[in-house]
Amino acid sequence: SLFQTYIGSVLVSVNPYKDLEIYSKQNMERYRGVSFYEVSPHLYAIADNAYRSLRTERKDQCILISGESGAGKTEATKKILQYYAVTCPASQQVETVKDRLLQSNPILEAFGNAKTLRNDNSSRFGKYMDVQFDYRGAPVGGHILNYLLEKSRVVHQNNGERNFHIFYQLLEGGEEDLLRRLGLEKNPQQYHYLVKGHCARVSSINDKNDWKIVRRALSIISFNDNEVEDLLSIVASVLHLGNVQFAADEQGNAQVTTENQIKYLARLLAVEGSVLRDALIHKKIIAKGEELISPLNLEQAAYARDALAKAIYGRTFSWLVNKVNKSLAYKEGEFPGWRSTTVLGLLDIYGFEVFQHNSFEQFCINYCNEKLQQLFIELTLKSEQEEYESEGIAWEPVQYFNNKIICDLVEEKFKGIISILDEECLRPGDATDTTFLEKLEETVKNHPHFLTHKLADQKTRKSLGREEFRLLHYAGEVTYSVAGFLDKNNDLLFRNLKEAMCNSENPIINQCFDRTELTDKKRPETAATQFKNSLSKLMEILMSKEPSYIRCIKPNDAKQADRFNEVLIRHQVKYLGLMENLRVRRAGFAYRRKYEVFLQRYKSLCPETWPTWDGRPHDGVAVLVKHLGYKQEEYKMGRTKIFIRFPKTLFATEDALEVRKQSLATKMQATWRGFYRRKKFLHMKHSAIAIQSWWRGTLGRRKAAKRKWAVETIRRFIKGFIYRNHPRCPENEYFLDYIRFSFLMNLKRNLPKNVLDKSWPTPPPSLCEASQLLRQLCMQNMVWTYCKRISPEWKQQLEQKVIASEIFKGKKDNYPQSVPRLFINTRLGNEEINAKVLQALENEAIKYAVPVTKYDRKGYKARARQLLLTQNAVIIVEESKIKQRIDHANLTGISVSSLSDNLFVLHVHCEDNKQKGDVVLQSDHVIETLTKTAMQAGKVDNVNINQGSIKFTVGQGKEGIIDFVSGSELLIAKAKNGHLTVVSTGSGWE
Ligand code: ADP
Repeated sequence: SLFQTYIGSVLVSVNPYKDLEIYSKQNMERYRGVSFYEVSPHLYAIADNAYRSLRTERKDQCILISGESGAGKTEATKKILQYYAVTCPASQQVETVKDRLLQSNPILEAFGNAKTLRNDNSSRFGKYMDVQFDYRGAPVGGHILNYLLEKSRVVHQNNGERNFHIFYQLLEGGEEDLLRRLGLEKNPQQYHYLVKGHCARVSSINDKNDWKIVRRALSIISFNDNEVEDLLSIVASVLHLGNVQFAADEQGNAQVTTENQIKYLARLLAVEGSVLRDALIHKKIIAKGEELISPLNLEQAAYARDALAKAIYGRTFSWLVNKVNKSLAYKEGEFPGWRSTTVLGLLDIYGFEVFQHNSFEQFCINYCNEKLQQLFIELTLKSEQEEYESEGIAWEPVQYFNNKIICDLVEEKFKGIISILDEECLRPGDATDTTFLEKLEETVKNHPHFLTHKLADQKTRKSLGREEFRLLHYAGEVTYSVAGFLDKNNDLLFRNLKEAMCNSENPIINQCFDRTELTDKKRPETAATQFKNSLSKLMEILMSKEPSYIRCIKPNDAKQADRFNEVLIRHQVKYLGLMENLRVRRAGFAYRRKYEVFLQRYKSLCPETWPTWDGRPHDGVAVLVKHLGYKQEEYKMGRTKIFIRFPKTLFATEDALEVRKQSLATKMQATWRGFYRRKKFLHMKHSAIAIQSWWRGTLGRRKAAKRKWAVETIRRFIKGFIYRNHPRCPENEYFLDYIRFSFLMNLKRNLPKNVLDKSWPTPPPSLCEASQLLRQLCMQNMVWTYCKRISPEWKQQLEQKVIASEIFKGKKDNYPQSVPRLFINTRLGNEEINAKVLQALENEAIKYAVPVTKYDRKGYKARARQLLLTQNAVIIVEESKIKQRIDHANLTGISVSSLSDNLFVLHVHCEDNKQKGDVVLQSDHVIETLTKTAMQAGKVDNVNINQGSIKFTVGQGKEGIIDFVSGSELLIAKAKNGHLTVVSTGSGWE
């Protein structure tokens, strides 16, 4: 981001005063496990880098966040904590720890932060937070150290500033019920301690909402409801204390005028009201073993009251930090086996402060910043140069301002400002802020960084008040007013007030005010000394860790986005020591690493050092960098470390490593793939062989079984053949069955196609009967099928043909020629028969009509006639005349010759005279005509076939004879003997 950059590994972050949207989860992922120069500068990069050093080197880390008030330190701390909370491995227990780490923030901010002119959420205490990580890199605990809360804020705020957030949050957000219990009104204007700065309500702060967050955080940090109530009782009691008023009696002694407040206080602090009231207006001193109680004047009473308010609030704040620490504490029992933890510290401490009016608090804060600057110098600049020295590397010293001289001015024993202040506080007699200033002038008058009105020259003197001293801090000049220094340093609480608090039944107050304080003869340490000691402890803590730096810069004083006040920024850049930092970085070596570590990381880049180097790491690195082609001026070999001058050299090496890693990975992958493929191939081959052999075996077995079966079958056949004529027995049953089967199969394929097809396969002996039956069945079946297909006409035809056959077959020579000719229904249509005849026959249907030739009975003359066959008679017709009607009953017989002529005689019963006698006729279709006539007349049995001659009756008993002879030509004629002679050929000509 534009707002963050690096100098070396120091992150410089400018407060954007707007949401940059670079703190998302995706962004966290982006920075996770990535070298910090691979991605754009970011808080997360520093956080991740520190975390990874912690994990890989198992060395405690600290991230030092500095910058002036409002530059974004607290925000940065929170962002880093969030980063760890999201990216670090977690478990159920760890989740709770993470939650508590995050939730400790809103609580401490509510009680320790306030709106100042510089920052709406300014930390009014210093904070150092340790996060403990287990061997897996999961956060398992935490611990917070707090430094010098700005207690004076409880009772007084400068114009435009506020008291600590919690007071406003409680009033704005607290439920009515709660407020009633605490005796509070919703209006902050009602409370003296809240209106000193004239800005109880600020539009940029949502107290009501913040209250909810704090209330929720309290339960996460395992406060139960009683504890919350006790804590808020104390907060409320401070507000009530502020409203306690005094009036002077006749002697000028202070008297409490606001009984109501005392009542509330007694209840909230769980003390006796009268005791508290007395304690507020009296002073108890122990002189020469005797208790002396003296009344307080108005001013003293107000002082005592404020002192009590500050003490209560200040101690409660410390108690709160303790409580948070208990809930964050790494409990080994909870995570058994996770013995070794590493620690990552986050220091978010007040930045350098310069106001119009600077007091004891600013003095302490700025002293703290001097110390931090000292540490920064120690760790980066000085240690850098010292490292070159110890590593035996030539080094041209970089000029930088070492602020040790200022630190000494403040903290040196006997001669330092704090020592002198303490001395003034402790010495008997009338010590005042002014005597303190005089003492200072006396003791440090020659110090180049110290100035007072008296010590200054004419010109600067004008800018200094008589009650002021000026320190030339590394970050600039600050003029402090000595007013209040002694009181604040003494931080006195009158003994009787302390006693009253020790008797409190509010558990928190009870813990805050320890009875041993009352009996302890030793004077408690002054505020400045306490602070000095805790700072020196902090420095020790930080020195033992590997530091990362975040330098926060405030772009303008108006808390506005996109406004850059160059003078302001330039100033910060200067006092943050960034220029020196830059110069050292430029002059020196950007990167250094112990030989072991360097070799371990980059050994894969050189064939001689990969995979292992047997010699000294020093030599290994020499070989390695030579192989990498480092130029003479690019690096130096120290005693235990290699120093690389330019970042780009290292970056190039890193790139090479990345490439190498990838190729190694690819190679390994390839090897693995090869191995894996081969393994797979072998496996497949093995499988193929297994399947093959199994299949071959199966095939072999099948073939063998088939052969065996074949052999057995053949043997059975032979045996069966031998025994084929025996009765059925095991030896021949198969054979016989086979023979049967094959006969039947053969039969099935070769069944006769039609009734005339007489073929039939020869059955084996055992099937003769069956064959016979089958043959019959088959014939029946064929006949039946045939019959089913026959039409009525054809049936009639066949019936007639059968009759013809019965009558003529083998008896008359021209019969065979008639067989293939179909009989015709009738040979004369009705139109060919005379209408008169038809009329005469009336409804006697004509069944058959055929033209015939009639031979006269006497002369045998041939005459053409028609023969009509009806249901009842045979009728001979000549043109329109019915010549003769022979009723079927009168037809006694029909005669024909055996030869192939067409002549026939119808014999008629002669008793009836009307009858003309037998009729001699000839038809070209004699077989047809006679068959039909015989059938119609029912005279099938009366057809006579004669050899030689036929006798017939010619009316009145006379007889005629027809002689039949065979000859070469047909001839019908009257012979000399009066017979009718018919000569016909052997084969009929019909
Ligand atoms: P410090 O702790 O240095 O006094 P803070 O961290 O409280 O300063 O920051 C002051 C204000 O600046 C915050 O309340 C916030 O409004 C704004 N701020 C700080 N850091 C950022 C940031 N990274 N992005 C957006 N706003 C920020």
